[in-house]
Amino acid sequence: MVEQLSRQAFSCRMCGCCCLGQGGIVLTSRDQERLRTCLGLPLAEFLARYTEQQGEKVCLITNQANVCVFFETGQGCSVHASKPDICRAWPFFRGNLLDVMSWKMAQDVCPGINPDVEHRDFVSQGFMYLQAQDLVRSPDPQTPTALVVQDLIEERGAEG
Ligand code: SF4
Ligand code: SF4
Repeated sequence: MVEQLSRQAFSCRMCGCCCLGQGGIVLTSRDQERLRTCLGLPLAEFLARYTEQQGEKVCLITNQANVCVFFETGQGCSVHASKPDICRAWPFFRGNLLDVMSWKMAQDVCPGINPDVEHRDFVSQGFMYLQAQDLVRSPDPQTPTALVVQDLIEERGAEG
């Protein structure tokens, strides 16, 4: 069991550090629908109360402490069961899957990333997780770039 855990590339520590900061939580149309349903709001009201437009992307707003509007101190994510795809996918973001340096920098902000697991194993486990959770996306103006990993998975498949 210990050996199995030590090979796990990621295990969330529930610290909430990834809920800090502005503009990072980009919502897909599916996220918008899931969240507005969870909150019992019409889509227009959900968008007006909880989001802002950044270019072509729709992002969650933050509160005065610059923390995600859905983060509650001592409780964590108040919409956990309906949280956005990008929150579900972290830390298996495109940049962290592509680039060893990004993966190492991500370890500084996310204690859930196991630094003792090699990057290639982080990538393999990430691809499996993202596929199992239906979080793999193709490029689209509204889609968070972090979720665009279809091409990486295809490249890996081509390499055998
Ligand atoms: S920063 Fe990492 S360990 Fe902390 S809550 Fe986010 S995903 Fe989990
Ligand atoms: S939606 Fe939930 S998990 Fe995502 S950033 Fe906000 S509080 Fe964190």
